[in-house]
Amino acid sequence: MKFGGTSLRDAAAVRHVATLIADRLGQRPIVVVSAHAGVTDALVRIATEAVDGSPDIDGLEELHAGITADLGIEVEDHSDLFGELRDLCQGITLVSELSRRSKDYVVSFGERLSARTLAATLRATGTDARAFDAFDIGVHSDRAFGRARLLPDEGRIAAALSDFTGVPVVTGFIAKDDRGNITTIGRNGSDLSAAFFGNALDASEIQIWTDVDGVLTADPKIVPGAQPISRMTYDEAAELANAGGKVLHPASLRPAVDKSIPVRVLNTHRSESPGTVIVPEFDEPAAVARCIAHKRHVTLVSVESSSMLAQAGFLARIFAAFEHSNISVDLVSTSEVSVSMTLDNTERLDEAVRELEQFSHVTVERELGMLCVVGHGIRHRMGVPARVFAPLRDAGVSVRMISLGALKVNVSLVVGSDDVDKAVRALHAEFFEGSASG
Ligand code: ADP
Ligand code: ASP
Ligand code: MG
Repeated sequence: MKFGGTSLRDAAAVRHVATLIADRLGQRPIVVVSAHAGVTDALVRIATEAVDGSPDIDGLEELHAGITADLGIEVEDHSDLFGELRDLCQGITLVSELSRRSKDYVVSFGERLSARTLAATLRATGTDARAFDAFDIGVHSDRAFGRARLLPDEGRIAAALSDFTGVPVVTGFIAKDDRGNITTIGRNGSDLSAAFFGNALDASEIQIWTDVDGVLTADPKIVPGAQPISRMTYDEAAELANAGGKVLHPASLRPAVDKSIPVRVLNTHRSESPGTVIVPEFDEPAAVARCIAHKRHVTLVSVESSSMLAQAGFLARIFAAFEHSNISVDLVSTSEVSVSMTLDNTERLDEAVRELEQFSHVTVERELGMLCVVGHGIRHRMGVPARVFAPLRDAGVSVRMISLGALKVNVSLVVGSDDVDKAVRALHAEFFEGSASG
């Protein structure tokens, strides 16, 4: 059972989560937690502020003290953790520099604090529970601070938890590298942690408890009438996550797929609603579209070279430039004279552009939006691109780039940032509202 930050927003939410867990003791749950809502963002700010010597740690300590006070519990470890955080920030101030390693260390406190609060709440209400830091029960990663990859478990987690008969409450999002440094696995990474634990412990189900009724046909923040999807396949859910559907972390399906463990997305605040179950496959008359996903802050890079494009190895040189700068390419579209690509992370884009400019003309456009129509049915139907373009044209959205996935589980489009909401609503209306829907 993984509870996200919104599920642990305040004392009432934490208390409610404890009852959800207590009601399911017969299924021997292992609990994975995120930091309370907003805490990871606050820690990122604290880490940056520490460089100049003015991090607001008091505010964060008051927030946690407020939650525990409202819960009527005392969490002894909290003062040690805040002491450690203050020492760490003093160190950052002293060297006036924030390394990626120190930033991960600072950010790790959110999950370490919330896990202890939830375990103490369970104990206070009569459930045997204990908080564990993931790295203390064998969760190891590489050294890529900020987006570390988890290393194969090899039985360490099951061994570490074998003597404990109560409910383990484990930190999501964090691990340690081979030198003992704390790492984080990327924003929103607790979903992945949950799937990783599910895989390691051969769980019968991986439950992602969040603040909506499961995976919906679009982000309800844009389409208030978006409907819950009762079932979807792993590859549809993976497309949705990759295309920006924040409800699931992009890599979180992998550990579930490896052992065919169903993933269920559930609403903490409405536990009676059935949620969404994500499974390897199922038989049904295919709906054309399962959902509309979107992503913001997308960068589009176009590479032009009239002389080179027809030459063997041109694409390889382009991708090599991105590989050298550790940038992964998302969508690709090629024409006679140019190649356009969207990128996920652009930290080292300048380096990649310098390399590309040695043999081509490069244009970079930032802050665009990407939309994706996800669904297995796309592969069985002709005319889906037409159904995508007509409503967008009517809504006055101009499409900058389009890509049809080779497995045909998605149609992806790039649009201007101001058009994202409008485009999501237009596509949702086309595929899910009215008589032509489905
Ligand atoms: P948590 O704190 O539980 O990890 P997140 O904020 O990371 O929660 O993810 C849940 C949010 O994802 C929802 O509140 C919703 O706004 C957003 N979201 C985006 N796309 C979808 C979608 N297709 N279905 C459901 N939620 C979505
Ligand atoms: N607390 C982390 C974040 O805010 C991880 C997570 O919530 O999944 O990104
Ligand atoms: Mg999340």
